[in-house]
Amino acid sequence: MQKKEAPEKGFRAPFPHFATNAIHAGQEPEQWSSHAVVPPISLSTTFKQKAPGNHSGFEYSRSGNPTRNCLEKVVASLDGAKYCLAFASGLAATLNITHLLKSGDHIICMDDVYGGTNRYFRRVASELGLKISFVDCSKLQVLDAAIKPETKRPLDLGADICMYSATKYMNGHSDVVMGLVSVNSEDLYKRLSFLQNSLGAVPSPFDCYLCLRGLKTLQIRMQKHFENGLAVAKFLEANPLVEKVIYPGLPSHPQYELVQRQCTGCPGMITFYIKGELAHAEAFLKNLKVFTLAESLGGYESLAELPAIMTHASVPKEERQKLGISDTLIRLSVGLEDTDDLLKDISQALKAAHP
Ligand SMILES: *Cc1c(COP(=O)(O)O)cnc(C)c1O
Repeated sequence: MQKKEAPEKGFRAPFPHFATNAIHAGQEPEQWSSHAVVPPISLSTTFKQKAPGNHSGFEYSRSGNPTRNCLEKVVASLDGAKYCLAFASGLAATLNITHLLKSGDHIICMDDVYGGTNRYFRRVASELGLKISFVDCSKLQVLDAAIKPETKRPLDLGADICMYSATKYMNGHSDVVMGLVSVNSEDLYKRLSFLQNSLGAVPSPFDCYLCLRGLKTLQIRMQKHFENGLAVAKFLEANPLVEKVIYPGLPSHPQYELVQRQCTGCPGMITFYIKGELAHAEAFLKNLKVFTLAESLGGYESLAELPAIMTHASVPKEERQKLGISDTLIRLSVGLEDTDDLLKDISQALKAAHP
C-alpha cells in the first residue's frame, strides 16, 4: 500500500466554525414542539391561521416552508450571509437572479460556463431581450473591455450574490436537484423572495431535508474529495498516455497561486486530455469499472464523462473548439472511494484504451 499523502500545504485556512454551523445552524430543536434533533419534513402545503391574515410565519408552502427555512438558514450561516433562498435547481436560481434585470440590460458571462447556463442565456434569456456577452473572465482587460453602459453587475448595485447548484457537492449524494442563492442586502433578499414565490420554482420539503442531511458531512467529504482528487491528478500527470491534466491543485495549473490564496482546498473535479483521438477517449470511458460513465458531479461516487458529447453538447461546436473542449477531453468527478481502487481503475482503463 502506498503511504497516504496529506493535502498540499499553502491553502487558506478553513473557515472558522464551518463544520459546527453545517450541523447546528438553523436546526435548534427548541423551534419544534417535539424538540426533534433532526428537522422534521414538513409536507403540509398550507398552514392554519388564527384569524384572516394572522398566521404563525407560514401561509402556503411555495412562499415559505419550515424544512426549507432550516436549509436556507444553515446555508446563509455557511456563507456568512444574512439571507439565503432555495430553488428547484441551480438553473432555477440563475433564472430568478436573471429576473432582477429588464429587457435591454447586458450580462457578462464567463465563456466556459456550464453548458445548461450557456443554453439558457443563448436560447431563452436573449429571446426575452437581454444582451449576453461570453467573455474569458480570467483576463481582466478582456472583462473590462466587455463592460457597456447597460451592463448590470451585482457589485455596481451595491450587492453581492452567491449562487450554487446544490445538486453537486452541497447535497453530495446525487439524489437532489437544487439551487441556492445567498445575499446580504435586505432589498435584494426581498426582491428575490418575491421572485421565488412569483416564479414558483421552489424545492420540495423532502429535497430540503436531504440537502440538510448532506450538508452535515460537507466539510469532511470535501477533505476526502481533495485527497482523492489530488492523488488522481498527480497520477494522470505522470502517465505517458495522458497529454495534459487540468487541476487547480497542481502547480502546473495557471491559477495555482490564486487558488491557494482564495480556497481552502480543491474539489474532485479533474479534466485531462487522453493521447490519441475520440476512439481512445471512448475506449477509456468504456473500460472504467469503479468510475461510472455519467453526467453531473460532486456526489460521493466517482463519475467520468466526455463533455464534447455529454455535458457541453449544447455549446456550439466553434465555441467548444475555442474553449479547448475537444473529443479527447475527459472530465472526472472523483468521489470518496478508496484512493488505490480509483488509481488502479484509471490505470487499467488507460492501458485498455492504448493496447
Ligand atoms: C450543475 C451546474 C449548474 C446547473 O445546476 P442544476 O442544479 O443542474 O440546475 C449550473 N452551473 C454549474 C457550474 C453547474 O455545475
